[in-house]
Amino acid sequence: MLDLAIIGGGPAGLTAGLYGSRMGLKTKIFEKLGTGGQITLSSEIENYPGVCEVKSGLELMECWPEQAKRFGCEIENNEVKKVYKEGSIFKVELLDRVEEAKVVIVATGGSPKRGGFENEEQFIGKGVSTCAVCDGFFYRNQEVAVIGGGDTALEEAIYLSTIAKKVYLIHRRDKFRASPTTIKRVLNNDKIEILYNSKVKKVYGNQFVDGLIIDKNGSEINLKVPGVFVFVGNIKNTDILKNENGEFICEMCEDGSVCVDLSMKTSIEGLFAVGDIRKDSVKQVICSAGDGAVSALQAVKYLESLKS
Ligand code: FAD
Ligand code: NAP
Repeated sequence: MLDLAIIGGGPAGLTAGLYGSRMGLKTKIFEKLGTGGQITLSSEIENYPGVCEVKSGLELMECWPEQAKRFGCEIENNEVKKVYKEGSIFKVELLDRVEEAKVVIVATGGSPKRGGFENEEQFIGKGVSTCAVCDGFFYRNQEVAVIGGGDTALEEAIYLSTIAKKVYLIHRRDKFRASPTTIKRVLNNDKIEILYNSKVKKVYGNQFVDGLIIDKNGSEINLKVPGVFVFVGNIKNTDILKNENGEFICEMCEDGSVCVDLSMKTSIEGLFAVGDIRKDSVKQVICSAGDGAVSALQAVKYLESLKS
């Protein structure tokens, strides 16, 4: 049996793995994709303290798994379908088996939200993308559209402007919610044209995207672009915390995040939730890593309390 099962190998899960194994716990991280989490989709990160040069998300996360493994943490590529408690033991249901653990830290983060326009699903991977680092190169010297008004949309629009001929930044309001420095960089970028108060109605094409139909203040615009990048926020990956009746096993907050206290404890003893999925998360790599450290140290305390 594991002392500590960690679900998700992003910044929060990998840090929990590092701290848990370094404290002598038999620790395993289950990660369904590659390790590193959402930040590996980012073209650059410049606000991780101590890392002065601007790196891509992939570069920043490169050595995190190795560092955790150095202290004995195991990392398994597997998807967790469900987690629940039976008596004092947690069951972690994987694709192929069930693992048992004394403590579970849920660090499943977020996944890109859909824009909700017509034909979006049909053209994913055929011109509609949620990753500029992965797909930007296909549109070298062509025109592309970016949808969204947050940090992700603006940062990725800047990145795409280094590859594409022109970037149309489509935002549904007349104010961005990204950080002021990023907004300034966008406003000063000649290759980015901003369409405010604009809603994408549909994407069209045959096999691949040919363009977009946009509603701008009530008038229709036909934007002919082969690439559409959707950065409209994230949904929290909390489904594994649902039972067979679709009810959450622990207390949830109104916005869909997992309720935790300052120790990252959920309403279930021995179950912790960290990073982007937890209540009041500020959605930053440094904060997710901090949560991971806190939860693993609390896990040690919890296991000690079981002995007395
Ligand atoms: P995540 O990074 O989402 O990791 C969760 C992991 O869990 C994923 O690897 C996922 O595959 C795995 N997982 C999910 N469900 C399961 C399951 N059922 N079984 C097994 N594994 C599972 N933050 C900054 O500080 N600076 C930035 O510059 C910055 N730029 C960003 C740019 C982009 C494009 C995006 C999308 C985000 C950016 N962020 C940035 C935010 C930052 O990436 C997140 O706050 C951070 O990654 C959250 O870490 P996490 O470990 O909580 O979750
Ligand atoms: P976000 O901050 O939630 O912004 C989402 C944007 O998409 C908003 O502008 C929103 O419009 C728009 N939007 C939402 N649904 C839409 C829809 N259906 N159609 C059209 N537009 C829609 O998401 P994010 O930019 O991905 O950022 C997520 C979190 O990660 C944030 O906390 C962010 O600060 C953080 N992050 C940080 C960095 C960094 O530190 N450098 C970089 C990236 C992300 P409205 O404005 O009208 O709501």
